[in-house]
Amino acid sequence: MAEETIFSRIAAGEIPAEIVYQDEAVTAFRDINPLAPTHVLVVPNRVIPAMTDVTPEDEPVLGRLLAAAARIAEDEGLSEDGYRLIVNCGSHGGQEVPHLHLHLLGGRPLGPMLTE
Ligand code: AMP
Repeated sequence: MAEETIFSRIAAGEIPAEIVYQDEAVTAFRDINPLAPTHVLVVPNRVIPAMTDVTPEDEPVLGRLLAAAARIAEDEGLSEDGYRLIVNCGSHGGQEVPHLHLHLLGGRPLGPMLTE
């Protein structure tokens, strides 16, 4: 079993966070350092460290992450104007927390996908 992370501890209720959605597979909570009016992280409750660790048995939970993100985006009022989902992976991807997560960003025009 993968080690605990700050995000698995949030999912377990051991560390406080502003949780916006939770079920038996995924937890979503507001990013502590928001980069847009809505910035929610959607994480699997069971640790998958990064995209490079994904196996075929993870396929159902990956679908659950995307479906939860779409539902949260709708709840946050983002569906009409749109939003962005980002998954950072590894050092070149800028991943800081070794627990796979979707960033759900919206609430303003987000500009070009990459700035450098
Ligand atoms: P990444 O660089 O893709 O690994 O993103 C990690 C994100 O986690 C950053 O946007 C951080 O602001 C966010 N973050 C780190 N610790 C917490 C926390 N305790 N609660 C909410 N968001 C956090």
